[in-house]
Amino acid sequence: MSARKTLDDARGIESWIINLRRQFHRRPELKYEEHETSALVRRTLDELGISYRAPIAETGVLATLGPKDGPCVALRADMDALPIHEEADVDFRSETPGKMHACGHDCHTAMLLGAARLLKEHESTLKGPVKLLFQPAEEGGAGADRMCQEKVLDAPRVQRIFGLHVWPTIPVGSIGSRTGTFLASAGEIDIVVHGLGGHAAMPQYTKDPVPAAAAIVTALQTLISRELDPLDSGVISITCFNAGSAYNVIPNDVHLKGTVRSLTLAGLKQLQERITSCAQSIAAAYRCTADVSFPGNDYPPTVNDAHCWELTQQIAANAIGAERVVQMAPVMGGEDFAYYVENGVPGCFVALGIGNRELGCVHSVHTPKFKVDESALAIGTALHVDFALRSQDELAG
Ligand SMILES: [Zn+2]
Ligand SMILES: [Zn+2]
Repeated sequence: MSARKTLDDARGIESWIINLRRQFHRRPELKYEEHETSALVRRTLDELGISYRAPIAETGVLATLGPKDGPCVALRADMDALPIHEEADVDFRSETPGKMHACGHDCHTAMLLGAARLLKEHESTLKGPVKLLFQPAEEGGAGADRMCQEKVLDAPRVQRIFGLHVWPTIPVGSIGSRTGTFLASAGEIDIVVHGLGGHAAMPQYTKDPVPAAAAIVTALQTLISRELDPLDSGVISITCFNAGSAYNVIPNDVHLKGTVRSLTLAGLKQLQERITSCAQSIAAAYRCTADVSFPGNDYPPTVNDAHCWELTQQIAANAIGAERVVQMAPVMGGEDFAYYVENGVPGCFVALGIGNRELGCVHSVHTPKFKVDESALAIGTALHVDFALRSQDELAG
């Protein structure tokens, strides 16, 4: 089956895929709360006659098609939404105030169900098992890590994995990715600067944490500009600076939050060590103390296997044309797809173009006006299907 033919098949079920996507879009659920989403995934798999294991990692679903033996390939979608109030110009807007599919995971889930439907039609020709991973909690919850801990990559062992992410800066009809490190290793920063509050007119009786915290914010930027090899990449962004509530009261504490990123896990750890020692030393210089922690999950970098990206490019060239395949630079965003490849499975994570100026699909992910050109969904579905089929052909050799 050619990639062109698969894309035609995917276009044939496009309205079914879009309808599912809009159902997910209307009912966004945050990380590890994807109960309705998971139920609709399971209902759809039931209708297609595809067996699955659930729940995994709270709300995850692992569906399997094809024969028990032979090369095993996994396809992955994430299901969670974000705590953002939707302002997008669509008539299937979120029905839950304050929650929105602003990262397009509704599209990812619908495309994987589209792939499930097409693969089911060709089940008798599959050369091995195809695992469909519907995972929770990509947004900070490391749902992929939980899925790995619950052995979704084993018995049978997954030999290749493929995942997609909608990408507003790439025009619809194109895709992009790269060989090697594509997305960053990312973690969260939490710093509490403790001082001694008091009357703002008498700072001599206080240990003011505000100038201490301000100095910490400034100094952290020199870790990037003065300590990192200029040819390496790193980000420290302090995004919250919370202190006090009155004009004339020096507060006891300042609470800083932010993000730290690097293209390697070792680089992330090194920045974290330096953030800790800088914050503590600077606080001490101001007669304060600093508690520094890195809560949540440190996502590893997303590293693409060279051959898996090569194969994806061949498939895309056949389906949409070689001129529509973009060689991207690394991006400092993070993705928990990284955990699957970190577990030793060669894989490829691909950016699926959804940008379309005429339709107003110009807004970034994680913003209230984020909007998708849904004609991309058939392309994503077809890429999933062909990546599985072609990989099995190669692995069966
Ligand atoms: Zn996101
Ligand atoms: Zn995302």
